[in-house]
Formats: sequence, structure tokens, C-alpha cells
Amino acid sequence: MQARPGIPTLVVSGFLGSGKTTLVRCLLEESIARGEKLAVVTNEFGALGIDRALLGAAGVRSVELAGGCVCCELSDELVDTLEALRRELAPDRIVIETSGLALPYQTQLSLWRPPVSEWVGDDMAVVLVNAEQLAEGRDLDETFAQQVSAADLLLLNQIDRVPADALPQLEARLREIEPEAPIVRARHARVDPALLRPPEVRPCRHGAPDRAHAHESFETAELAIEPGIAPDALVARLRALGALRAKGFVATSDGARLVQGVGRRIELSPAAPPEPRLAGRVVVVLRRASRAASPA
Ligand SMILES: [Zn+2]
Repeated sequence: MQARPGIPTLVVSGFLGSGKTTLVRCLLEESIARGEKLAVVTNEFGALGIDRALLGAAGVRSVELAGGCVCCELSDELVDTLEALRRELAPDRIVIETSGLALPYQTQLSLWRPPVSEWVGDDMAVVLVNAEQLAEGRDLDETFAQQVSAADLLLLNQIDRVPADALPQLEARLREIEPEAPIVRARHARVDPALLRPPEVRPCRHGAPDRAHAHESFETAELAIEPGIAPDALVARLRALGALRAKGFVATSDGARLVQGVGRRIELSPAAPPEPRLAGRVVVVLRRASRAASPA
């Protein structure tokens, strides 16, 4: 059983005009700034809008899969491409930008096929929704509903193009389709990067919480989980917190488990007992407002 955390992989979906390419550009800039190796697979001509200098940066590799959709016709090509990227680049992170009509869940299925399933880590589907399109009721067909309902995280984008008082109603409409995935509001696809990657569980901490990537709306916290906790109780505790992301190692009553959570989807997978310094610690990303009764 693989206990290694693996390479985190993000699937970026949403209709044409929802801001996928802008988000991918932000992720590229972030990885370059962090000195990470990033592999990008795109399935949309819009990706050509990304600055060639970014795509040509050291540590960045990009592949465009054209002539079909990565979630269906090109799923075999997607698996082959991901495996080739792992061999050639050994990326720290992978981003897959689907076409506007692709289904994110079906795209994620390719990540769970060998050989990719042997090395893929935390996988997450972020679905961007153009707030203006939603407000105008344009193209809200079955594909739209399927994309929204498959999201681990919904990014309600371009909120500056609709009146602020319309936002709760737009979120309620998304909630009807997808009751559980966290909804995050964004302009120009700008979102706290911590939401789109697994939280880091670091061996050392020096008292003060890590606020290096803190954002006005989100924060990282660390939970101490007692050994011997039942897996169900652990999942219930993380859900009750409303954590947007979770990652850590816990010695449950069923044995050592790697905890990976995206919104309500919390997965416990068998893991080798971690270093003692990492055991029993789960790092979570929380919405500040969702924390216990903040004093107004
Ligand atoms: Zn498809």
C-alpha cells in the first residue's frame, strides 16, 4: 500500500469565459515564485492566451492535448501524458485545464487509473463559474449542472460584474445543484493559493502559527488528534469544522492513516506510521468567518 503523499493534481474546469486560463496563469506565477516544478496539461485553445514566457520558464512543462476532450475521447492520452510528465519532469504539482465542456469527475477518473494512480497525490477539482453568466441564466444546461455538482471547490468568479446584493442568490442557485462544496467568491480568478493545494504538514513549528500565506478570508490551523480515534469520529470532527482543506497523519483505531480532505470529501488512506513529529497532526484551511463566534 502506497503511503507516500504523491504529486498533488488539480483539475480546473468551467465553461468558456469562466476564467480558467486566468487561474492557470496565476498558478504558473505562484509555482515559478516558489521555485516549484509545475506540469500543465491543457485541453483548450484558450491556453494559448498564456504568456509564452511563463510556459517557457525553468521548471515548467506544458502539454496541449487537442482534437478531443480529455474527460472522454482523450482519456488514454491524458494518462500517457501525465505518466510521461512524471518521468521527464518529476513535477511538484500538476494542473489539468479541461475544455469548457469536460466533466471534472470523469477527468479525475483518469488520475485513479494505473500507472497514474500509483503516484498521484491529493487530487482536487475546482470549477469556475462566471457570475455574470449565472445571473443572466445563460447556458445553464445539463453540462453546467454536472460540472458544478462534481466540484470539490466552486469558484464564483467575475463577481465584480454583478451587483453585490445579487451574490447570495447566485450562491443559493449553486447550492441547489451542489449542496456541499465550498463556494469561494473571486475577481479575475484571484483566490488564496492555499485553497488549491494540500496544506503542508511540516515537521517543525516554532510557536506562532504560520501566516506566511494568510489571506483576509482564510487561515491555516493545526489540530492535535489523539491516537486511537475511530475513523468515523475523525471524519465527523473535520466536517464539523467546515475545513476547506485538510491534510495530516493520524493513528486511528484502524491503524495509521493519511488524511486528505477537500471540502466535504475527506479521505483516509492506509499509511505507514509517519515520523513521530508528524503523527496526530492535521493541518486545516478554514474560512475565518466560519470559526467559532468571532466577536463581531
Ligand atoms: Zn469529455
